[in-house]
Amino acid sequence: MADKLLDIQHLGVHFAIGGLFDKSTLRAVHDVHFSVDRGDIVALVGESGSGKSTIAKLICRLEKPTSGKILLDGKDVLETEPHAAGKEYRKRVQMIFQDPFGSLNPVHTVAYHLSRPLQLHQIIRSNDLRPRILQLLETVGLRPAEDFIDKFPHSLSGGQRQRVAIARALATEPDLICADEPTSMLDVSIRMDILRLLTDLRNEQQTAFIFVTHDLAAARQLADRILVLYAGQLVEEATSDDLIADPKHPYAQLLLAAAPQQGGSLDTPLPAKPGAPKNVDPQPGCAFAERCSQAMDVCRQQTPGWTWMENKRRVRCYLYGDTRADEETTK
Ligand code: SF4
Repeated sequence: MADKLLDIQHLGVHFAIGGLFDKSTLRAVHDVHFSVDRGDIVALVGESGSGKSTIAKLICRLEKPTSGKILLDGKDVLETEPHAAGKEYRKRVQMIFQDPFGSLNPVHTVAYHLSRPLQLHQIIRSNDLRPRILQLLETVGLRPAEDFIDKFPHSLSGGQRQRVAIARALATEPDLICADEPTSMLDVSIRMDILRLLTDLRNEQQTAFIFVTHDLAAARQLADRILVLYAGQLVEEATSDDLIADPKHPYAQLLLAAAPQQGGSLDTPLPAKPGAPKNVDPQPGCAFAERCSQAMDVCRQQTPGWTWMENKRRVRCYLYGDTRADEETTK
């Protein structure tokens, strides 16, 4: 039976924007719920501004939600560790950032970067520090590790820096790593190596990953399940194979059409009707209605809820059922 690690319940971030007389609300993330099992890889996919990186930051507690719950092993971490710097949670949930150039301090060596989490979380005695750092470098494929441990970031390639960032995230032996577009700034030839490394880490250490990406091919290669986001809301969840083979939500269909080839990404303009995601002062109705070629009257009047399908698949669209958001029950 699946061992549920993380449970996200109705997570939301709403910001007040605008001036004194034209106040608006930006719904960056709205009513997002999903779970991650131990050793699971879940991809969050969507266009820029869809809320996927914000969700990763919320889970890593680098941003504060305005609503919802984050449960780790069934415990509500916002209640049990109300301070964002909650040490125990940080030890168990780590983040890899998009930019391997900016995420390492240029004045410190690789050894320093990897020693910080080990010392901060009192994982290891100082005598054992160097052997453990060498071991971490070996784990992420920087071999021989002695050649890398005393280097500064500027003398490493982009792929090597990202491996150091991954080693740093692994130092605390976390249960979950949120990887925010970890390959998007790397050469195509190196991307595959990094994805293979993440897969190996999952297989060998049972580390779960939340993989934020705009690259559907990468999501399919790495993830067990894909969650599609639009305008801060989840609109479809399915196994990677099901979603790529037969996307249900019209927006997911557009994403796939925009990235039909291996290595394709959503940098390609989507073949959709013009219009921006409606997450500023959103009105009732489907957020995608303005761009959807199949929109019906009901789509503009009431927000669709979830329709559940086989294989734990769910889609938020009236084409598959008449569930309204205010009537739905979650499963
Ligand atoms: Fe299109 Fe309506 Fe489905 Fe929204 S609910 S995606 S507008 S068909």
